[in-house]
Amino acid sequence: MGADIIDGKAFAERLRARVAEAVPAFAAAAGRPPGLAVVLVGEDPASQVYVRSKGKATRAAGMESFEHRLPDTVSEAELIALVEALNRDPRVDGILVQLPLPAAIDDKAVIAAIDPAKDVDGFHVANAGRLAVGEEALVPCTPLGCLMLLKDRLGDLSGLEAVVIGRSNIVGKPMAQLLLGENATVTIAHSRTRDLPAVVRRADIVVAAVGRPEMVKGDWLRPGAVVIDVGINRVDGKLVGDVDFAGACETASAITPVPGGVGPMTIAVLLRNTLVAGATRLGLPAPEGV
Ligand code: NAD
Repeated sequence: MGADIIDGKAFAERLRARVAEAVPAFAAAAGRPPGLAVVLVGEDPASQVYVRSKGKATRAAGMESFEHRLPDTVSEAELIALVEALNRDPRVDGILVQLPLPAAIDDKAVIAAIDPAKDVDGFHVANAGRLAVGEEALVPCTPLGCLMLLKDRLGDLSGLEAVVIGRSNIVGKPMAQLLLGENATVTIAHSRTRDLPAVVRRADIVVAAVGRPEMVKGDWLRPGAVVIDVGINRVDGKLVGDVDFAGACETASAITPVPGGVGPMTIAVLLRNTLVAGATRLGLPAPEGV
């Protein structure tokens, strides 16, 4: 009832606008707009929707979108050959291979083939390692978007207790590294954690990235906690998060809604990462305001 709603959709629109404002300076220096290549293998309907909206957002920001659609019969070697061609293509600043890949293809091998300097998803081990040791890295879009929302809400995160629920390489682990980099005290909870409610109750910041509808209850939260709900679950045709939104609103001081919270941040950060990756690779000044 009392919690403020963290408007990720509005924040993401502002970030996209700042990226679009920084594009002309990049284009003037590079002699071309920033370019993002997206590779889609197969016909997965959700992936098709993501790829379409990524292409649209890329063009809307004044950037070039290169879309590569391959049949699900493509071999791992053919897919890696395409990634290597994109690594060499000077017009391409960012490469994103949409996951999941068909079972016959080893996604680790495909991610390893991406030039880390163009790895705008931040999934390459070189980028994960740099993040872990506190060096400049391309960071996965969803957790970086969550961090932006948290810093916007809370300012300095230093000394705050943060509990990240979920330990995936895509969300949970990089989220924990980012929070650690901001000097929060970080706990990573997961499927084997004992007494999850008691762990969550310690937290000033809760990031839920589990994939279980409304698992985190309002009475698990410490009063005043800030809650970032990464979960996207479809229940009876409706999208719900990993947090019981109505219950959490009774205890939290602020919470991201689903939809309209973390979701829109992911594409906005992808555009930001593409611009930053291009500028870094070409030795241009860091883009302003992103
Ligand atoms: P994943 O399945 O890879 O990882 C889920 C994690 O949750 C695992 O580490 C597991 O240990 C943990 N977990 C499972 N059951 C648990 C339990 N009962 N208690 C505590 N922890 C438990 O998922 P993911 O890729 O990290 O995604 C998590 C959620 O975030 C999904 O709903 C996904 O759709 C969503 N997601 C959203 C975005 C976005 O907003 N753009 C991006 C990525 C993922």
